[in-house]
Amino acid sequence: MNASQEFRLSGIATPKDASEMLGEICEHFVEHADVHRTENKATLTSKLGSAEIRIEDRQLSIELRCPSQQALQLSQTSLAEHLFYFAGDEPFELTWSQTARLARLPNIHEVTVVSCEDVTPHMRRVKFACADVGPFIGGEMHVRLLVPPKGRLPIWPGQREDGRVAWPEGDDTLLVRAYTIRAVDAERGELWIDFLQHPSPGVATPGADFARDTQPGDKVALLGPGGGALPLATNLLLIGDESALPAIARIVAEVPEGTQIQAIIEVENQEEEQPLPSRASLDVLWLHRQTYFSDHSKRLRDEAHAAIAAMPSNTFVWVACEKEDIRSIKASLKTLQHDKKKMYAAWYWTRKPGGSTDG
Ligand SMILES: Cc1cc2nc3c(=O)[nH]c(=O)nc-3n(C[C@H](O)[C@H](O)[C@H](O)COP(=O)(O)OP(=O)(O)OC[C@H]3O[C@@H](n4cnc5c(N)ncnc54)[C@H](O)[C@@H]3O)c2cc1C
Repeated sequence: MNASQEFRLSGIATPKDASEMLGEICEHFVEHADVHRTENKATLTSKLGSAEIRIEDRQLSIELRCPSQQALQLSQTSLAEHLFYFAGDEPFELTWSQTARLARLPNIHEVTVVSCEDVTPHMRRVKFACADVGPFIGGEMHVRLLVPPKGRLPIWPGQREDGRVAWPEGDDTLLVRAYTIRAVDAERGELWIDFLQHPSPGVATPGADFARDTQPGDKVALLGPGGGALPLATNLLLIGDESALPAIARIVAEVPEGTQIQAIIEVENQEEEQPLPSRASLDVLWLHRQTYFSDHSKRLRDEAHAAIAAMPSNTFVWVACEKEDIRSIKASLKTLQHDKKKMYAAWYWTRKPGGSTDG
């Protein structure tokens, strides 16, 4: 990075235990950045820029360096959100050298619903027109869908002084849910999202219901993209349920020729399977939940454990599904001491009541 192109920001974080928080930062960001740790310092480098974090006087002294103002703001927000998350209920303060509050985050894309169709009985595809699909091509796959309250002009999120996202509140509260950009149609300027319809008796499912009810012309926003790039490796092991199927389908469609992919995908029944066109060599095991004897079958985990035990050690393992399944699969990767740079393991939903990914 040329110094003249550099945008910089420093901050001071005051956690209860600076060393413990530095450990948590390194542990988490190793899946998203190059992390270099010495006893009192960590350097995180990604395509957004670098973050140098030092322990000084029981505080964390932070120095961000990025190639653009937008990258700097994104790095600041991401770090701030994570630090407050790591602090949990413990007292925690974060201050920055510049405190310019943004009225609106720069990575908000206003989009308009173009069409809706059922891809399978339980997977509904919504296509959105987007003025600039460029940021969605070839990089990170995930977004947060922001749906404004019916009948109100949307207020989109900005940035708080501590760097975190300032979410609109009260009557302006948005519906916020995480989704995957299933495909980018650059020619038409469209983004596709596949929404699983997952009826949960007695429980509201606002994200799924948005896809069921939305009409062409509806205006919403996508925040991102972020949090999960296309994995590039010669050997890929992809594991997931329907919530991960859009991401798996996109990975399979976009990886280069010569990639060897083994995929294990759990769906309700054969009708929920989808064609997965790819230039890669692809071996898919479809699991049908409907054939299980118990509602709480651990079949996906069991197949995942077996595949992990048998895979070549240079395999990139990409796994996304329910929270407890992820915990169990991550534990087997840990036991094998699988390189954290060769894995993406994220829970996409939770069976726990009231436990949405953005609630
Ligand atoms: C990075 C990321 C990417 C994602 N990409 C996609 C995607 O492309 N397509 C997609 O459909 N989902 C995707 N998800 C999952 C999606 O965000 C969750 O399923 C979300 O909970 C749906 O919100 P909701 O309002 O419909 O239900 P919620 O209000 O969150 O939950 C209501 C009830 O439904 C249950 N529930 C939630 N999700 C599921 C599920 N998948 N299967 C069964 N029961 C469920 C909950 O346990 C709860 O009881 C993604 C999640 C993440 C974190």
